[in-house]
Amino acid sequence: MSKIQRKDYDYLFKLVLVGDSGVGKSCLLLRFADDTFSTSYISTIGVDFRFKTLSVDNTIVKLQIWDTAGQERFRTITSAYYRGADAIMVVFDKTNRESFDHVKEWLDEINRFSEGSVRLLLGNKFDRQDSIQVSEDMGKRFAESHGMKYLETSALSSHQVHDAFLLATKDLIGKKSKNVT
Ligand code: GDP
Repeated sequence: MSKIQRKDYDYLFKLVLVGDSGVGKSCLLLRFADDTFSTSYISTIGVDFRFKTLSVDNTIVKLQIWDTAGQERFRTITSAYYRGADAIMVVFDKTNRESFDHVKEWLDEINRFSEGSVRLLLGNKFDRQDSIQVSEDMGKRFAESHGMKYLETSALSSHQVHDAFLLATKDLIGKKSKNVT
């Protein structure tokens, strides 16, 4: 007799983090998944991922979150990284204008490798108010013109980190329930 397997979640979503090296992707993941912050987080080579289970309006969602682990420029596994991604978070550093200018390039790559994914733009390092090079308005306008939602986060202070992942998750649940009916 076969055993009845009960899943411990309603949905499993793959979420990937992209953006220039140093913008804070690993720290955002660490903050969200473990609620810690480390200035000396040394990741493994290649790709890292973590699971986090969330309960959203009585729906249990398991997120599998992928991080490039510092290999942004050397990735030879780009297509595997994006394969099956339900949501993509593009991260830039609010204190680094160049990382914001590169968002366009990240979107080109995303458009090449991913179809129909939910996309969010995150302006990270919100806590460093004395060194801001990219205003909230700039981030918002860019995101709107590319059909993305925009949030400002800080992996250091936790500002809006949970909210960002929650927003992506809610969008994904919304999309799934639309597909079902
Ligand atoms: P990644 O290469 O995009 O994964 O970036 P990391 O997560 O490794 O972070 C790069 C550097 O930025 C590290 O020194 C972190 O301590 C720092 N950092 C990351 N997020 C924040 C943040 O929200 N605020 C501040 N002040 N520093 C951050």
